[in-house]
Formats: sequence, C-alpha cells, structure tokens
Amino acid sequence: MANHVEETKEKLQNIGWEGGISTMYKCPLQNQCFLLATDDLLNVLKKTIEKMYCNRDYEKCIRYQLYRQGRAVPKNLLPNDRECLTIE
Ligand code: SF4
Repeated sequence: MANHVEETKEKLQNIGWEGGISTMYKCPLQNQCFLLATDDLLNVLKKTIEKMYCNRDYEKCIRYQLYRQGRAVPKNLLPNDRECLTIE
C-alpha cells in the first residue's frame, strides 16, 4: 500500500498536481456548497453526505453534476436527487 501511495504521489508531481494526494477524491465544491454551509440541515445528515459523496464519490452527486453542466443548483437538492424538506 505504501508503495502504491508513493508511486501515485510521484505520478501526481510529474503532472504538476499541487493539491496533495489526500484531497484528490474530495469534491472541489466543498467550500462553496450551500448544502454543507446551511444550518437547516441536520449535522448527522451533513456528515453522512460528506462521507458518502463529498469525500468519496462526489461525481455521483447530482448537485456536482448540475454545477459542472453550468445549470442552476436548487438549494434544497440533495446529492441523491431528492428534495430536502427542511431547506426552503
Ligand atoms: S454535496 Fe455534492 S456538490 Fe456539495 S460538496 Fe458534497 S459532493 Fe460537492
């Protein structure tokens, strides 16, 4: 495992990657995502979203997909394409 990490780091350095290996799977929208910033969402739900999407499979998040397509992202849209009823 350690060798794999070192190999990956070396490859990333070779292509000029400056984000570090630990951040490469994190959603690049985390600092601007309304869903993670709002107080209208239970903390336990935020933690679950971060674990399931933001820090792992962010490309599966419908919010991320819409943003990448340049489309509007509704505030109350959850990563699984459901509506969050506690956010208006
Ligand atoms: S909820 Fe989706 S768009 Fe927002 S930070 Fe997480 S993965 Fe990115």
